[in-house]
Amino acid sequence: MNRSVLITGGNRGIGRAITEAFLKAGDRVAVAHRGGDGLPGALDLRCDVTSTEQVDAAFTAAESAHGPVEILVSNAGITDSAPLAAMAEDQFGRVLDTNLTGAYRVAKRASRGMVRLRNGRMIFISSVLGTGGRRGAANYSASKAGLVGLARSIAREYAGYGITANLVTPGLVRTEMMEDMPEDMRRQLLDRTLLRRPAEPEEIADAVLWLADDRSRYVTGAEIHVDGGLSLGA
Ligand code: NDP
Repeated sequence: MNRSVLITGGNRGIGRAITEAFLKAGDRVAVAHRGGDGLPGALDLRCDVTSTEQVDAAFTAAESAHGPVEILVSNAGITDSAPLAAMAEDQFGRVLDTNLTGAYRVAKRASRGMVRLRNGRMIFISSVLGTGGRRGAANYSASKAGLVGLARSIAREYAGYGITANLVTPGLVRTEMMEDMPEDMRRQLLDRTLLRRPAEPEEIADAVLWLADDRSRYVTGAEIHVDGGLSLGA
């Protein structure tokens, strides 16, 4: 479709599936990530979302290669779990800085071009843990809950500029992040998933592509759960 798209953390896992789906749709895709390999067909941008300067430079590079970013997918995320009593303040802060403040940095930078275009889609990847919480993941769960407020505030502030902001909220997804989870935690989440399997990253990408599409033009401030029923609870 030849749209200018920027995806944070688009080189691995869910982000990689989203990148491949936009490339397949014929879009111009820029991928912002810290390390590792890029993806053939996508503009590879080294960018740590915890740095305002690097975010700015990544957008400038994407804009000169592809034109103003019309679709932002804020997907970069990390975990660093520990029980609350053992969770160091910088451990709490690091996860917030990447998952939530990182999303604020890219959204703020993206808004400049989108306001000029009077058109834009912002899509944030949250998590069912944002509402349900999880033992040992106070930092991660708080960051994902924060994304809901961030996206909905953006939806309100920018509706008049033709910009929508929505969330896709996965349950368990088959990626490295899932592999790194302790076995008992993964088992517990799977046991509560009505469809009895993790999502494939492509199934999350399908929802993102729909939110970027003209067919979802009347959708803003929405949170779409793609979680196999996990958020319904046990
Ligand atoms: P992965 O660990 O497989 O990938 C994470 C991606 O984020 C990588 O591309 C990584 O790139 C990027 N990233 C991390 N930190 C930064 C940073 N500071 N700056 C730029 N990029 C960064 O995770 P998933 O694909 O599983 O997760 C993607 C999103 O989906 C995350 O937000 C996660 O919280 C969410 N999610 C995942 C679930 C799951 O079960 N897998 C469930 C619910 C939500 P690099 O390391 O190269 O910089």
